[in-house]
Amino acid sequence: MRNLPTKIHIQNTLTGKETELPIWKNGITRLFVCGPTVYDRLHIGNARTYASFDNFVKFLRYTGIKVRYIQNITDIDDKIIKKAEEEKTTPEEIAQKYTKIFKENMRALDITSVDKYLPATDYIQEIISQVERLIEKNYAYKIEKDLTADKAGGYYFDLSKFPDYGKLAGRTIEQAEDGVSRIDENENKKNRGDFCLWKFPKTNLPLSKKKTKKPILLDGEPVWWAPFGWGRPGWHIEDTAISEKELGPQYEIHGGGRDLIFPHHEAEIAEQESVSGKKPFVQLWMHTGLMTVEGKKMSKSLGNFITVDEFLKNNDANLFRLIVAMHHYRSAMDISERETTAAKEALNNIKEFFAKLDLITKKGVKEKNEENLKTLISFEEKFVGGLTEDLNTPKSLAAVFESINKFSQNIWKLNKLTAKNIKSSFENHLKILGIKIEYTKPDKSTEKIIKEREIFRNKKEFSKSDELRRQIEAKGYKIDDTPLGPLVYKN
Ligand SMILES: [Zn+2]
Repeated sequence: MRNLPTKIHIQNTLTGKETELPIWKNGITRLFVCGPTVYDRLHIGNARTYASFDNFVKFLRYTGIKVRYIQNITDIDDKIIKKAEEEKTTPEEIAQKYTKIFKENMRALDITSVDKYLPATDYIQEIISQVERLIEKNYAYKIEKDLTADKAGGYYFDLSKFPDYGKLAGRTIEQAEDGVSRIDENENKKNRGDFCLWKFPKTNLPLSKKKTKKPILLDGEPVWWAPFGWGRPGWHIEDTAISEKELGPQYEIHGGGRDLIFPHHEAEIAEQESVSGKKPFVQLWMHTGLMTVEGKKMSKSLGNFITVDEFLKNNDANLFRLIVAMHHYRSAMDISERETTAAKEALNNIKEFFAKLDLITKKGVKEKNEENLKTLISFEEKFVGGLTEDLNTPKSLAAVFESINKFSQNIWKLNKLTAKNIKSSFENHLKILGIKIEYTKPDKSTEKIIKEREIFRNKKEFSKSDELRRQIEAKGYKIDDTPLGPLVYKN
């Protein structure tokens, strides 16, 4: 059974309104989501963003929409260079190390829908081409390096040429300029908000240096040859160069964490719309909410950063995906002891329900019940319906627990085949949210004890059967005597 929705609506940060999902052609929609800067282990706040977009893409694909989904990897950046200095290695090695960990984290969390992860250093020629075009069109200007003041210099984007700046964040240019990041500070800029497109090296190049294909390391800083001077890319231009090459100058959806709206996404709009002269760069902008830990913002200074690795040391990946789905992707969400306990209970409820369905599939009744079939259809409609309304995963999860309650009212009367269908429907739908339910069935030696216990129970030798029950429980199993026989499983 598959209910395909007719319309999907998504909140668009650009317009502040819900937009019908934009489709490009032949049922394809193109999506770019900002990936990680690979200088450290990924924390669960970023993982929440990637899990949310994984839900989104898995849902679109479930409905038959083809998604071309790419994510960049920022593998050249100030933070990477700094980390390499600290660890006495090269920026390349730092980037490789944390890219590997990032990809392992994604696999562990079942975030599998990205078609390609694209490292910025594979796109240096495209980046150079974008900067060149911005220079030609007079959107970019040069600040000479000032070695006496330790200012590297570079090419900057001239915001006075792009009056639309601030349209995504809903800021005026002046407000936008107040929020500009420290990275782009340089007192020789024309406008306070101007951002760097191409950074010249801090150290002078040896005079003999000729054009090379690969970057050279200059005092720990990788620099590439470009017709307008050796250097390395600014952050924002990496993403537009990658997306222009892979998706074209205009595409349907761009996503990322809420904290990227300004200045990063504003800068991307300014760059790409100026390079191509085409508006809008992207039709639909989607942003995920921030994550806090026990009510506090995650920060290095508070020492409350939870990395994905740390989370997975103590918890199951399903638990993370369930907690993510329990919150609307745009809402701020808090990870707390209470939250985790509630999610564990919810997960255990589904496991128990699955264990019951398996027992019914084996030993249940054969009479059909129309009411149960209706409940199943209504579950599927509500689950899918929730996702069509701005990816309302809490609403879809509510449909899961509502229908578990409804089926549970008379569960031992469920028809064998219906029980099987319910389970496979639940599995197929929960899979969209990255949740894969598995409980542990009794092993062979436990099976033997269960059988012996049944014999004693039939003979009404209860002290003996109770002793065997204790043995089963000592192995960590739950045991429940049902009208269809004993239900034994582990969470
Ligand atoms: Zn980005």
